[in-house]
Parts: sequence; structure tokens; C-alpha cells
Amino acid sequence: MEKKVVIVGGGIIGLSCAYYLSEAGHAVTLIDRGNLTSGCSFGNAGMIVPSHMIPLAAPGMISQGMRWMLNSKSPFYIKPRLNKELLSWGRNFYRSANQQHVDRSMLALRDVSLLSKQLYHELAQKSSEIAYEEKGLLMLFQSDKVGEEENHAGEIARKLGLAVDFLSKDAVQKLETGAKVNAIGGVYFKSDAHLYPNKLMDFLIQVCRKNGVQFKEETEVTSIQVENGKIASVSSSVEKISGDEFVIAGGSWSPELTKQLGIHLSLLAGKGYSFTLNQPPQRPLIPSILCEGKVAVTPMGSDLRFGGTMEITHVRDTKINQKRLQGIVETANSFYPEMKIQFPNPDDQWYGFRPCSPDGLPFIGRSSKLSNVVIATGHAMMGLSLGPATGAIVTAVICEEKAPVSIENFHPDRRF
Ligand SMILES: Cc1cc2nc3c(=O)[nH]c(=O)nc-3n(C[C@H](O)[C@H](O)[C@H](O)COP(=O)(O)OP(=O)(O)OC[C@H]3O[C@@H](n4cnc5c(N)ncnc54)[C@H](O)[C@@H]3O)c2cc1C
Repeated sequence: MEKKVVIVGGGIIGLSCAYYLSEAGHAVTLIDRGNLTSGCSFGNAGMIVPSHMIPLAAPGMISQGMRWMLNSKSPFYIKPRLNKELLSWGRNFYRSANQQHVDRSMLALRDVSLLSKQLYHELAQKSSEIAYEEKGLLMLFQSDKVGEEENHAGEIARKLGLAVDFLSKDAVQKLETGAKVNAIGGVYFKSDAHLYPNKLMDFLIQVCRKNGVQFKEETEVTSIQVENGKIASVSSSVEKISGDEFVIAGGSWSPELTKQLGIHLSLLAGKGYSFTLNQPPQRPLIPSILCEGKVAVTPMGSDLRFGGTMEITHVRDTKINQKRLQGIVETANSFYPEMKIQFPNPDDQWYGFRPCSPDGLPFIGRSSKLSNVVIATGHAMMGLSLGPATGAIVTAVICEEKAPVSIENFHPDRRF
């Protein structure tokens, strides 16, 4: 049965929902406060990462995080403030950072990631513009200690069925023919893929328009009307939009929306930065993570993007921390000593807010609080990667069909 579905949020998650819902024959309206040209889903590192099956909340993360907090150029930081949300998120993170949680989450993350990659593979048949490539992901390291951690993660992924190679210094350089690499070794996840996020977003907007999705841009949802245990409509300052079903895909702003529904989402913004070199004369050809500095490096078409840092903060904190950006540049130059990467000009500096749940898993599914609301957010470092799978899952939920993979671990009402 065709339903009228209203989606709040036009990042990769909202757009993926719009795409699969419209393909399934529903009448979709997508609302975004911006003009769908910028934001977290555009400037990210474009990696599709079945390799990332260990959630952020894992043993060892708290002590590692503490060490990083003391270094102004480090890749991780929690902006200290006396705030109820931050304290509760921190408590939930602490409770989740254990081995049982990791064991419970890995299969769920593997399955949803592999589904998403399969869906990206299908989308790429429809557009070469998105620059989708299956070249894997190289985790590069410069110290024995980090190498041990990465090898361990690679062993786990291999046991769970992913193709992983463990590379010596020479084997790294043999694989990476685009630039000289200064690393003592690498773990190569052959399962991963990458694309050009800005071009993917343009493509999805275009196909959604063709499918009849109605876009309401520059339209901020400021209030939500609930009647008889359901959302009746959402309102902006100029109009009221009604529907049969509502999808909340507001990224880091989602808690502001769900609060109005009596749904508490433990979610904070994880600010990260990137800059893109247009057609650099020399560039790595294999997407890589420079592990000591947690910097992501992605060839996108003929461009090259560097991204990194995770500053747990709030959505009003829009300043770009120049020291942390400098940390990204220094890490990049240390791993690619011949590239001589320059500090980016202010106009080329980008930031985005990753919507971070405290247990490192997304929130996908219906909340038990209201009968016609589906939540789709909290994808943190994996939102681009998990976009299509999330769109397909949300479509199955709204069509009252079995989800294509288990979503039990992603329940929006879960306790931490
Ligand atoms: C440096 C960096 C690198 C990254 N690299 C990768 C990567 O390689 N692979 C990967 O998988 N992920 C990566 N990510 C994470 C990924 O970018 C995010 O997880 C993803 O973009 C989140 O998508 P979203 O749709 O949930 O949120 P957003 O893209 O933030 O979209 C939410 C939208 O909701 C709208 N909205 C919010 N509230 C309202 C309202 N009240 N009314 C109307 N509209 C509203 C906002 O305007 C926004 O457009 C990276 C992130 C960063 C910062």
C-alpha cells in the first residue's frame, strides 16, 4: 500500500531513505533546513567500511581517549562542559566499552556493512559519476604497538569472513604505487570500497527527484504535532506537513527533534575536519587510514581528500580548531614524506558533525513511543558507509516487511 512518508533530514541517511522508499512506490517528502549542498554527508572521507566492525565503544578506548585528551593536535577530544547530556552520554559510553558489547555488535555491524556495500555496488551501475571503486582499505602504521593493535583487528575481521592481508613495509609500497609511504607495515582490508560523497549526494538528489520525491529545502522543522499516539504533522515557520509515516534522520540534531516526541536519544556531535586537494600531481591510489593520527586519506576521482579528528561536542560549536587541522597535515606529511602537503586555506577547510551514539551503533527502527515514527541516525563514523543499508531497512520497516538484516542491536529504545 502506498504511504505518504515525511523524512526530516536530507543527509546521506535521509536521502537514502527517500531513494529506497520512492523506489518502493511511496509518496515521499524530504525536509531539510539547508540547501542540500553541504554538511556532514558531503565532506566526509567517502569510505565504505565493512572492515569497521569493532564499535567505537570498545575496551581500551577510555584510556586511549584520556591520553589523546592531553595532546592539542590529537585525533580525539571531548569538549568538557557541565552538561546533563554530556554526562549521561559519557556514562553510557563507559558502560558500553566492554568486550561483551564488542562481541554482540560485530556480527550486526558486519552484516549491515556488507549489505550496504552490495547496495552501493548496485547504485554504481547507475552512475559512474559517484566514482565508486572497490580498492579496499589500507591501515598504515609506523610503530610496533599500533601495528599489533591493527593486526589484532585484522585477525578478528578475517575470522568473521573478511578478506584481509597483513603487509610488510615493502608489500605496502608494492601495493601503493601512487606515493612514497613511510610506514613499517599495513593491514589491507580487501572488502572495503570508496566513492566521492559530494557526487553521490548530487546523484541521489537527482534520482529522488526523478522518482517524484518532493524536496522542501531551507525548511526547518520547528515543531511536531502528536495526536493519538502518532505524529500527525511536522511544522516549519511557514507550513504544516502531514503524513502517514515520519522518518527522523536529522543527524546530530536528531535529539532536538525526538525530544518533542518524548523520545530521549543519547547522541552527541563528533566534529571532524577534512580538506580536498584538487588533482594533486602525486597522490596515494589506495584509500588508507594513517593509524597513529587516525587520518583518513581517500582518492576521489582525480582529487584527494584528507579527513580526521573526533571532537565530542555540541552542534553550536562550529569553530575549526586549527591545531587539530595542523595535526592532520603533520600526520599526512609524516606518512607521505614526498607529497609536501600544505596547510589548507580557510576556504578549503571543512567541518562536519558525526551523529555519535554512546555505544558506537546506529539507531535504526521504530520507537515504541509512537506508532508511525522511524528513527534513522547515530551512524557516527559510518554514516556514508551504512546509508543505503539504512535506507533499505527503513523501507522494509515502513512496508511492514522483515528487515534485510537483523536490527535488534540498533533499536532506538535500547538501554546502555
Ligand atoms: C571528517 C569526517 C570523515 C568521515 N568519513 C566517513 C567515511 O569515510 N565513511 C563513513 O561511512 N562516514 C564517514 N563520516 C561520517 C558521516 O559523514 C556521517 O555519519 C554522515 O554524514 C551522517 O549522515 P546523516 O544523514 O545522519 O546526518 P547529516 O549529514 O548531518 O544530515 C542531517 C540533516 O538533517 C537536517 N536537519 C537537522 N535538523 C533539522 C530540522 N529540525 N529541520 C530540517 N532539517 C533538519 C540537517 O540540516 C542535515 O542536512 C565522516 C565524518 C567526518 C566528519
